[in-house]
Amino acid sequence: MQKLILEASDILEDKFKIKPVRTRLFLHEDINKFLSQTRNPHARSIFLPRNLSAHVPQDRLDLLIHEYLGHGLYCEQTPYGQRMVEDEQKFESMNQDEIREALRLHEQLKFVFEAHALWTEDFLLRKLKKEEVLERRIEESLLKKLFKYVTILIYI
Ligand SMILES: [Zn+2]
Repeated sequence: MQKLILEASDILEDKFKIKPVRTRLFLHEDINKFLSQTRNPHARSIFLPRNLSAHVPQDRLDLLIHEYLGHGLYCEQTPYGQRMVEDEQKFESMNQDEIREALRLHEQLKFVFEAHALWTEDFLLRKLKKEEVLERRIEESLLKKLFKYVTILIYI
């Protein structure tokens, strides 16, 4: 796994001149134990913008790419990603208007945020010649539709 993570990061650096610098990756033996303490106990993995940390099961390369190299990079590199990190960090001291504005912005951009991570998965798994991992991932229920949509977006 270690070798694949480095290889994936190198591909991104090579192609786009970026790789995660501040995002931390946590590989969990029992991810459900960790997820049960989060806002999203039924997820399979999670990225926390507040402290730029990606939490994934130790044997899932697809989820690792999604959370760490997808959402992680987005939050480090894009203006909206950086804003999201800031908003989450100062959430407790925000007033009603600021919270409303943060939620409005998120509602508007969450699809881009998610689509970016899905595209990164698709791109890197193909580059790493892990098409079988990608196929298994695509078959996973709900994401099937989103992947199709992202694929359409890529080709138009
Ligand atoms: Zn995601």
